[in-house]
Amino acid sequence: MNKKTHFGYKEVNESDKSKYVGEVFTSVAENYDVMNDAMSFGMHRLWKKILVELAGINSKDYILDIASGTGDISKLISREYPETSIFMSDINYEMLNEGRNRAIDESFNQNCCFCQLSGEVLPFKSNTFDIITVGFGLRNFTDKEQGLSEMKRCLKKHGKLLVLEFSKPINPVFSKIYDWYSFNILPKMGSMLANDSESYQYLAESIRMHPNQELLKEMVINSGFKDCKFYNLLNGVVAIHIGYND
Ligand code: SAM
Repeated sequence: MNKKTHFGYKEVNESDKSKYVGEVFTSVAENYDVMNDAMSFGMHRLWKKILVELAGINSKDYILDIASGTGDISKLISREYPETSIFMSDINYEMLNEGRNRAIDESFNQNCCFCQLSGEVLPFKSNTFDIITVGFGLRNFTDKEQGLSEMKRCLKKHGKLLVLEFSKPINPVFSKIYDWYSFNILPKMGSMLANDSESYQYLAESIRMHPNQELLKEMVINSGFKDCKFYNLLNGVVAIHIGYND
């Protein structure tokens, strides 16, 4: 029998989820950056800067940026640490291609390479990377545990995982306002700016279906990472989880 999972609020066969997620990102790829700025009032830029600060990168590090999309995180790393080796990677050709074109256009491609892959099945030898980042990607995985254990496998000893993802606001009043914004404004913005309300309805739903801060921390610990912790940003709208390969 087919195992079930969620695609937003819909229950779907596990084997179909990546196809549905793929359709969302193929549809949003062209307008992804504009929508990101509009939806988060530009705050996603700050959240990504904080992630790079927390990463504690060394100049010659090997870095895997999973679900790199249009390349915001890789760009920040490349600019600040030009001698690192960055593997930009995404399951979706259109998103990866936007990232690759941007890296060439904005000249941050000199220390980047581009790999189309699933974060759930990493085609790298064990102990390859010093740092692995996943920015707003894990939420979309079909099997998050499988992805996390692949990330652990590919990290070097003492290597560091950083997961930036939507999470759960702490303040209940703020949480209500945020829910209202997510379900009433986001899909309308999607419709107006990108002619696509459905993808932004999926965004709002997928955020609610994603494990909260504590649960995700448990998942990271259960995948074998050590010294796990998280930082809440914007009252927990977003969190950065960190774990180390011991
Ligand atoms: N990291 C970028 C950022 O923060 O702006 C892009 C984030 S975008 C919201 C999510 C990305 O995750 C999409 O580009 C999507 O194709 C990718 N993605 C979804 N499932 C994936 C998987 N299983 N493996 C790798 N990438 C995946």
